[in-house]
Amino acid sequence: MARVYNFSAGPAMLPEEVLRQAADEMLDYKGTGMSVMEMSHRSAAYKAIIETAEADLRELLDIPGNYQVLFLQGGATQQFAAIPMNLMRSKVADYIVSGSWSKKAFKEAKLYGDARCVASSEDGNFSYVPDVEGLAFSPDADYVYICQNETIYGTRYTKLPETGDVPLVTDVSSMFLSEPMDVSRFGLIYGGVQKNVGPAGVTIVIVRDDLIREDVLPFTPTIMRYSTQAEAGSLYNTPPAYGIYICGLVFQWLKRRGGLEAMQRTNERKANLLYEFLDQSQLFSGTARREDRSLMNVPFVTGSADLDALFVSEAKDSGLESLKGHRSVGGMRASIYNAMPYEGVEALVRFMERFEANHR
Ligand SMILES: *Cc1c(COP(=O)(O)O)cnc(C)c1O
Repeated sequence: MARVYNFSAGPAMLPEEVLRQAADEMLDYKGTGMSVMEMSHRSAAYKAIIETAEADLRELLDIPGNYQVLFLQGGATQQFAAIPMNLMRSKVADYIVSGSWSKKAFKEAKLYGDARCVASSEDGNFSYVPDVEGLAFSPDADYVYICQNETIYGTRYTKLPETGDVPLVTDVSSMFLSEPMDVSRFGLIYGGVQKNVGPAGVTIVIVRDDLIREDVLPFTPTIMRYSTQAEAGSLYNTPPAYGIYICGLVFQWLKRRGGLEAMQRTNERKANLLYEFLDQSQLFSGTARREDRSLMNVPFVTGSADLDALFVSEAKDSGLESLKGHRSVGGMRASIYNAMPYEGVEALVRFMERFEANHR
């Protein structure tokens, strides 16, 4: 059975090379006589896996020495709570709400303190990113929060808010490692890995040293304190060991591909191919505002729910999988993360051309 082009928003495609390597190493990881899945997380072999993964991630993102890298569980969703618990010392935080994920994070933060929505694009069904120019942030805020790529609505920030001394926190779940980023612009960067980096079950948090403190909100569970995990090198308890190993293989794959500048070029080529087709199409149209369009998640519609459904089912029959849009936007969504080859986007565009010719 041939592999399909899988456009799922997450869990999503992984590089075939990585899957093959994992298969090769499945029964006997480097002469240990066991799978990484069966290995003690305190063993020398596993120590090398997690340390290499961290070193490769640091190299890829050029992470400064005063930031810790944590490999955690609980998904990005757990961080919606962990972030306010750990950072809301003055109990004030500013949120920019640009889609469902930042809205959920904002709602969660309100459980722990005075979370304030400083800008929202909900009035336009989150089809754009709010203007970050001249926003009035709370002077006493512990942090400002954004979701840099909104997976569902297919928008991304092209400019970051200027927050002065207030740390900027970003959810990069659906764009992690798709392009270079200046880590020093942020106090905390985090994401669930199942969109663009690895298998579900691992959440990566990159957090600046001065934000890892003991004076967290008093009820913060020990395991959710960044200080606990930083001191233990992410091994306070059993980590998602196999998932971290796969992330490590993906980091090595990214390095072989030329790192994040090279990924950005490929991702821009892929996204341009699809957007250029959408922009001239008489049948399909993109739903996100042009200036804010994501390189990773591309929602589009035909304008007819019946035709949308037919498109999704015929695409599936042609080996183009999981193109159904999120229920809050409808239509279709093509997620074209790092592991989606250019040929996959080409195959999608060819299919859309044929579909349009048959149904216009
Ligand atoms: C998928 C997603 C989440 C939720 O991730 P989980 O790992 O399922 O908790 C949060 N933020 C963004 C931007 C996402 O795409």
